[in-house]
Formats: sequence, structure tokens, C-alpha cells
Amino acid sequence: MIDKVLVADRGEIAVRVIRSLRELGIKSVAVYSEADRDALNVMLADEAVCIGPADIKNSYLNFSSILSAVSITGAGAIHPGYGPLSENLEFAEACQNSGVLFIGTGVDTMSLMADKIASKNEAKKAGIPVVPGSETALTDEREALNIAESLGFPVILKAVGGGGGRGIKVVLERVDFLDTFHAAKREAQDYLKNPEIYVEKYLDNARHIEFQIVSDNMGNVIHLGQRDCTIQRRYQKIIEESPSPVIETELSDEMGEAAVKFARSVGYSNLGTVEYLVMDDGKYYFSEMNTRIQVEHTVTEMVTGIDVAKWQIMLAFGEKLKLRQEDVEYKGHSIECRITAEDPFEFTPSSGIVTKYNAPGGPGVRVDSAIYAGAYVNPYYDPLIVKLITLSRDRDGAIKRMHRALSEFHIEGIDTTIPLFKKIMKDPEFIDGYRDIRFLDKYI
Ligand code: ADP
Repeated sequence: MIDKVLVADRGEIAVRVIRSLRELGIKSVAVYSEADRDALNVMLADEAVCIGPADIKNSYLNFSSILSAVSITGAGAIHPGYGPLSENLEFAEACQNSGVLFIGTGVDTMSLMADKIASKNEAKKAGIPVVPGSETALTDEREALNIAESLGFPVILKAVGGGGGRGIKVVLERVDFLDTFHAAKREAQDYLKNPEIYVEKYLDNARHIEFQIVSDNMGNVIHLGQRDCTIQRRYQKIIEESPSPVIETELSDEMGEAAVKFARSVGYSNLGTVEYLVMDDGKYYFSEMNTRIQVEHTVTEMVTGIDVAKWQIMLAFGEKLKLRQEDVEYKGHSIECRITAEDPFEFTPSSGIVTKYNAPGGPGVRVDSAIYAGAYVNPYYDPLIVKLITLSRDRDGAIKRMHRALSEFHIEGIDTTIPLFKKIMKDPEFIDGYRDIRFLDKYI
């Protein structure tokens, strides 16, 4: 029986995982860079080990430091959070080779989902509609242009090894295609060490709808409903809600069943997220499957009452999924705002000491924070500092509650995106359910 887990991520997700570990009676080990010495997860964990300097390559991405921390502390498993190690195949293999359990899906399914083309082809085989696009990686510019033309402009270029919105470029017209194609290849090589690009039809007015998959090592798979993540900035989610303001139950059930069918067809285990793009007319297309716990797992937890983070750990330990699909009940509406340390309208990063910190409370309010009064927000990492989540009987109530909670939130010493979220909560278009991923353009 594993009685100690090392949490190999930083920020609020490290705190989140430590909380679930404590409730499960499992000891936690935090790892931190020199820049994160005073971080909240370091204070809350049972043990903490410094794994290197601020530079991420030499600390949070340093496999040997992390695996040394495992052997020093005697941890039996690693939770990778949702950061750079969570979908890193080499890291999962290094864990396997060192005899430490990686809390996530198996290496085979992780490898399949990391390849965005292969996973789409697999979805197609399972009979699930996929976003129209190339079925192989594109190297030749002529071939790429031919495919783009047959799809019809606008098209979207994506890196085969991409994720987190990186390496995505929209091409509106044919004249811009070749330049953008070469730029995308160069960027994919520089940032992802893999120059492979693929092309998809750009789906105008699409919504991003995803399903939380939960499965055990024995082939039992269910979903925990949908999340609408259409409010994005640069292809990165900033507000998520469950359920979607517009997707009808019947369509949602169909998409959920398809997500489960897909997970089953590839022998998926542990937590995963099936992502779709959905059009106005209800047509939906599989886009990809993420193999980690997502930032926005919280809204699913709020409406289902299920501790997703806890289940992820228990399933990795080999426990059987006791819940059946028909046991999952959805109550109310939940919204999450990802509050970052940035200027609220220019999005320039902000760092410094948090001189005042007063978090909201009251009914239906959840604060998943990485900071506290006196904390230093350093400039080195992802700017996400707090997730603010509300739950209410209906969407209108969740929005009003979010506005109330944002108004109570006082963070001083650094800039945060709280003022932006306050505006959005009063925006008639948001209240009305908004249309597509370009909603945020007017604020930037
Ligand atoms: P990543 O894995 O980097 O997050 P995704 O494939 O999930 O990339 O795409 C991120 C976002 O980009 C989606 O949520 C959606 O808003 C937008 N997007 C992706 N593919 C398309 C497409 N074919 N048409 C329109 N928008 C798209």
C-alpha cells in the first residue's frame, strides 16, 4: 500500500492534490524550486524537497532531481499535477523504470493522445465525428496547401505535439498560407522540439465543450458531465462552467456517451477529458483527449459533489470505480474564473509581494488559491494564482454569486484579473450565454 505521494507540480494544483491526499490519509511530499521556497504547497505538505533553481528546466522539469526526491523521501507514487510533467511521456516512462507509480493514464494511452492526429484517427474509427482535417502530419508545403484548399479557408494550423493553446495559427486566406505554415513549423520545432504540423478546417462560431472521463484499470468507464470552456484568450480557457449555458441535455447525453465509447475503445484508464468543438446547429466534432487532471475539474466537482482529485489517486492505486453512470447526479450550476497575476486588460505579467489578501466566502463559494498575505508572486511561472468557483441552483445565481465573490476579493501588491471578471459577470452577452471563442476580443 502506498502511503506517501510526491506532488511534482507547483501552485494551486499542488495545494489541491495535497488536500485530497490528506483526506485519504496519505502523506504528501512537495517539491519546489529556490524561487518557490515560501509557497503554500511547501507549507501544507508533510515534507518538502528543493529540486533546483528558479529555471524550470533545472527544477520542475528536472527528472533526476524529482526522482531523487522520491528516493530520499520514500514516496511510492508521483502526482504530476497539470503542469509540464503531466503529459510528458518520457517522464511517465522514467517513473515506470524507477518503479514509482505515475498517477495518470497508462503510457500507451498517454502516447496515443499526445499525438493529436493519431487520436483523431482513433476517434474516427470508433465512429465519432472529428474536426475535418489532415490525417497525417504535413511536411511538404504543396501537399499542405492542397489539403487546406480542399478544406476551404479559413483553416487552422496546429502542432502535432501541441497543447495548452501553443502552436495554433489561423489562416484566413490562401495568400497567407505558406508563410504561416513555415512559421508554425519553426515555432513547433523551437518550443515543442517536434516540427510536425497538421491542418484543420477553422470552425467559426464553435463552442468548446468537454467531458470529464473517469475510468479504472478494469475497463469501467463513466463520464461526469460536460464543461463549457468557450471563454478563451489566445486559445486558453479563462472561464469555465458546468453545465453549458446552451447545450441541451439530449445533445449533452449523446456527446457524453460518445466520449465514454471513445475512452473504452482505446482502453483508457484514470482521469481524462474528451474535448469537442460544437456548432450552432448541434453538430459536434471530437478535437482531442487530455490525459491529465484539468484546471477546470473544480466545476465538475461542484455540480456532481464528486472529489475528482481523490478519485484520480484511488483509481491509479488500482481501486475499482464504484459509481455507475446512472449514479452520477448533477445539481445546480458552477462557474470558475482563473484569476491570474496580470494587468486585467493588457495582460502584462505582474509580480511582487501580496500585501493584502482577503478571500471571499459565504454560501456556494470555493477558493482554490496558491497565495496568501505576505506571499511573493514570482515572475518565473504560469501567472495563475487563484481559481474562484461558485455554485448556485441556476446559472443566473452562479453569475450573481461570482460577481459578489469577486467584489469581496481583495488582493493588493500585485495586479490581478479580478476587474476583468467583474466586468464579464455584468456583460449582457455573457449573461445571455455568449456565442463563440471570440467573446473576449472586445476586452483586449
Ligand atoms: P490545445 O491542446 O493546445 O489546448 P486545442 O486543439 O484544444 O489545443 O485547441 C484549443 C482551442 O483552439 C479550442 O478550445 C478552440 O477554441 C480553438 N480551436 C481548436 N481547433 C479549432 C478549429 N478547428 N476551429 C476553430 N477553433 C479551434
